[in-house]
Amino acid sequence: MTMKLFRGARIYTPLATGNRVMSWEKGAILARNGFIEKVGPEEEVLRDLEPAMVEQEVNFGGRCVVPGFVDPHTHMCFSELREQEFALRLSGVSYMEILASGGGILSSVRSLRAASDEKILERTKKNALTALSHGTTTVEIKSGYGLDTASETRMLRLIERAGREIPTTVIPTFMGAHAIPSEFSGDPEGYVDLLVREMIPAVSAECDPPFCDVFCEEGVFTVPQSRRILEAARKHGMKLKIHADEVVDTGGAALAAELGAVSAEHLLAARGENLAKMASEGVIAVLLPATAFSLRKPYADARKMLELGLTVALATDCNPGSSFTQSMPFVFSLAVMNMGMTVEEALAGCTLNAAKAIESDHFCGSLEKNKMADFVVLDGETPAIMAYNSGVSPVLSVYKRGECAAQRLDDWRFCR
Ligand SMILES: [Zn+2]
Repeated sequence: MTMKLFRGARIYTPLATGNRVMSWEKGAILARNGFIEKVGPEEEVLRDLEPAMVEQEVNFGGRCVVPGFVDPHTHMCFSELREQEFALRLSGVSYMEILASGGGILSSVRSLRAASDEKILERTKKNALTALSHGTTTVEIKSGYGLDTASETRMLRLIERAGREIPTTVIPTFMGAHAIPSEFSGDPEGYVDLLVREMIPAVSAECDPPFCDVFCEEGVFTVPQSRRILEAARKHGMKLKIHADEVVDTGGAALAAELGAVSAEHLLAARGENLAKMASEGVIAVLLPATAFSLRKPYADARKMLELGLTVALATDCNPGSSFTQSMPFVFSLAVMNMGMTVEEALAGCTLNAAKAIESDHFCGSLEKNKMADFVVLDGETPAIMAYNSGVSPVLSVYKRGECAAQRLDDWRFCR
């Protein structure tokens, strides 16, 4: 039996019951074989503990410890960045103009289809490891830059392989309905047919992804098309997610409630009555403030959603176009600075609620007995350090299943 004791920690964690964040000034975590055996005030954790049973002891010297971050919405499996396109957007060129000149999602589709497995895998792992160094120990990664059966299957295989080759827990989502590929421009129904008749059965048989996501938005997939795709995915055993009402209120939030989706994402334009339907069906709202930041758009109305009783999760939306960040601390800081969320709400949004959005809260998202010993040591006393020390990574070390998975070793060396 391998027990590890982590002490001297100011622990902040949401709890599965009670809808609150618990904190202990002088807390400790006891981990056995990578899972939490005991967590709480140090004297309680130490009580009846045989020193001989502890193989390793680490003292965090009063630093803040929070659960490993869970990023429940990313598109970090891709081949090429689109930095030139970002520069164009900053100079005032609109996304629609960029799309018309061959940029946007479809340029990521072209580059992914042309790239080798090794190149895509390397980029995906690099993104996930950057996320890990910013405290993300569980990440969801969507397909959706393949948009044909072979390329989508290949993406899902590479996403799974990335998860096997790095310490992070990776949850794959099938998102063949991310955009209409150029082969089907002018024939969206033809692409929906392909998704329903060929792609969903094939990816389900070959990769068995737990989730299917659809970009339900004006100019992408309509509500009836999204419903058809999601119903087919459900028949093949996938749970449902929807990119809903990001730009225009087309009724995506209502569709998420109607279909009993696990989550609906973005929701900037969603109507109050549809958000209320989501709340009563237990659909989780996944908000993506880094996308609003990167697109210079207003933020989703998190306060209204919380008042309606919605469970609010936060995610990076990491992708090469509208939000290129792997940092959950950055997302946390946007949530508390620009969305009116409290420190406790934002912490729950980055951890337990995010785990619920990918149905992983039975093993991660909070520091509680029998969950994975996944946690982050911050260079501060409270989670607020993530917003207070703005623009600077507060993460000192990251533990995955009780093992140090990433650690900041050196400070800068100044040249004079
Ligand atoms: Zn997205």
